[in-house]
Amino acid sequence: MDPAAPDPRRLLLRTAELAADHLAAGIDAPVSQPALIADLVAALGGPLPETGQDPLAVVEALAREAAPGLVRTNAGRYFGFVEGGVLPASLAADWLASTYDQNAGFQVLSPTAAALESICAGWLLELLGLPGDASVGFTTGAQMANVAGLAVGRGEVLHRVGWDVDADGLHGAPPVTVVVGEERHATIGRALRFLGLGERRVVVVPADEQGRMRAEHLRSAIGDGPAIVCAQAGNVNTGAFDPLRAVCEVAHDAGAWVHVDGAFGMWAAASPAHRHLVDGIDLADSCATDGHKWLNVPYDSGFVVCADPQAHRRALRLSASYLARTDGGRDGTDWTPESSRRARAFAIWTALRSLGRDGVGAMVARCCDHSRRFVDLLLEDPAVTVLNDVVLNQALVRVGDDDAWTLAVAAEVQREGVIWLGTTVRRGVASLRISVSDHATTEDDIEVAAAAVRRAIAATG
Ligand SMILES: *Cc1c(COP(=O)(O)O)cnc(C)c1O
Repeated sequence: MDPAAPDPRRLLLRTAELAADHLAAGIDAPVSQPALIADLVAALGGPLPETGQDPLAVVEALAREAAPGLVRTNAGRYFGFVEGGVLPASLAADWLASTYDQNAGFQVLSPTAAALESICAGWLLELLGLPGDASVGFTTGAQMANVAGLAVGRGEVLHRVGWDVDADGLHGAPPVTVVVGEERHATIGRALRFLGLGERRVVVVPADEQGRMRAEHLRSAIGDGPAIVCAQAGNVNTGAFDPLRAVCEVAHDAGAWVHVDGAFGMWAAASPAHRHLVDGIDLADSCATDGHKWLNVPYDSGFVVCADPQAHRRALRLSASYLARTDGGRDGTDWTPESSRRARAFAIWTALRSLGRDGVGAMVARCCDHSRRFVDLLLEDPAVTVLNDVVLNQALVRVGDDDAWTLAVAAEVQREGVIWLGTTVRRGVASLRISVSDHATTEDDIEVAAAAVRRAIAATG
């Protein structure tokens, strides 16, 4: 067969079948297997092929050889990190986005992608309780949304003192004070490195026992010059929220920009029972969140939101004269750090339209209820203590009095493969870190998961 002329219909239909088979295996397959990367490289590698092969045979080989190294984050029994699963509707939409090969950087390259982005922007602002006139950029994730939001903040606080950082950079610029909470996410530090603001040069505000910024220390940390405050909605360990209203009020009184990292926590706004946790988020100047975590769209997908669209566009716009710009409207590239871009709004639009406001809220609330139930079941074991207030979807569980037992339980759970969860070390203390963020997780999965952890406790005790 001529590899240059495959039959695309046969290829795609067979691939859809492979994908459906994978989903159908669901919870009957191990969540993850201890695959060796070397084995995967041996199976998939070898010398660069000199000649081509039948594309269908290549795709079949990929599905077959890749299987041992796949981690099933989307079958309801994965509780590690903060991952989220994939809504089938968004998966289907993502296929279409790739099929159509749309570049969401410029509206001339995809009027459809531009339309979907502007629709999703409005829907997201409403769902997340943010001002309707804020601007939204569609990024790869919260990491780049943090870079984007902080770039806008850097530009604006310097603009206010007459410095044009876009034109002149930071050489000779007035110093910018960056204030962070003690338990900020690591991606804030990396964003500050990219932006020339320095990861070490930050002023750190202490956190309370749940990891929340102690707002009473904020005013003195800000000082008097240009300043950016990095707050957090959803601590990656405890799920705790900085007191956003107080943080914004103090920071704004002092003339500082407030950026909120809300990678998963901002979705609390979608659930009436959890909305109080993000009280004050509408006062933030910029915020960052993820689609691929709690909205359950495929990787990669995040959002940056700015209360000041002018400052947003000034900091991030692409200044290139060779590109044919359409007057009016919105080129996606101007609101993110990227130029050519995947049409992420296909999957986001489909998630929001298929779930609706109620459905997103129910998904968030259900995950939180599941975390609570998981913890309650574990607490029936006298060796278990819970280290955090389970206010959202995150729980920290310790087994026994030393780190060793907790770590042994995690290793045993991972070895058994019925569920997956990981560990964290917070304030020098190791714990199992449980996150429930997959729409597919059921009450039954929680029973199975708690039983798996209790089996591991018994096996290692
Ligand atoms: C996951 C996470 C990030 C980074 O998000 P990515 O999607 O990995 O880029 C940032 N902040 C918090 C609080 C997170 O949980």
